[in-house]
Amino acid sequence: MDKNSIKSLTRISRSLWGDLEKSVAISEDTLTSVSLLQLSDERTLERASKVMIERAEKNPPRLLALQHPFYRLAPIERFLLTALHVEKWSYARIARVLGIEENLIEPWAWATRIKYAFQELEAELEYPRGPATLGASCPEYNVSQPWAQRLLDDELAKRERMFLQNHLLACEKCRKSLDLTRRMFFKIEGVIPVKDAHQETEIASERLYRTWKAGESAFRPIKTTLKESLVVFFNQTSVQYTIILLMGFIFYLSKSR
Ligand SMILES: [Zn+2]
Repeated sequence: MDKNSIKSLTRISRSLWGDLEKSVAISEDTLTSVSLLQLSDERTLERASKVMIERAEKNPPRLLALQHPFYRLAPIERFLLTALHVEKWSYARIARVLGIEENLIEPWAWATRIKYAFQELEAELEYPRGPATLGASCPEYNVSQPWAQRLLDDELAKRERMFLQNHLLACEKCRKSLDLTRRMFFKIEGVIPVKDAHQETEIASERLYRTWKAGESAFRPIKTTLKESLVVFFNQTSVQYTIILLMGFIFYLSKSR
């Protein structure tokens, strides 16, 4: 895995376990077993996240709730907020990690954000709601999965985004709704603990990266560049012999026509 993927994994682990030592130990453990599957970097990160979420959900770390309101959320909710706000993962990717339908992510994300902002943080914010009455050209406002969230999560198709951007220039009511949603986003982003733990993340990621590299050489001794593996391949006597035979055969075919 590249260093950025390792950093993502470090932050996700931290949001699940809270404690630095514990989260690094569990990431190492998880990464070692997932590396055996020989997946791509992207899939390795997703699989490792899934394994850790399941583990945290089965045995939720205790006492964490006392440290920070973030840890009063369930592990899977902490993963969701970290994936959305810190890692900027798409709904599709989050759904893939959790093995659930993509269309569930949107209402779930909204409910979790509302819960964190208004229940756990008791933020002094105006509740992000849609316009009281919709104008003729206003987009439909679904209270359980509003367009404002989709826009801020960068989940709109190009056409939809263009329409909204134009509409927002002209409609104050919808602008207000977007503004309230944005304020809630800022509030939440400001109180995700892993977001501010840069130095610790850096140290933990380095350690994890070394483990990964060591595991990679232990588990994948044949993993070399294509050029290197071709050199090895062509150096085998039997291969050379076969190639000579094949070349002779091709030469024979080209002459006999
Ligand atoms: Zn409008």
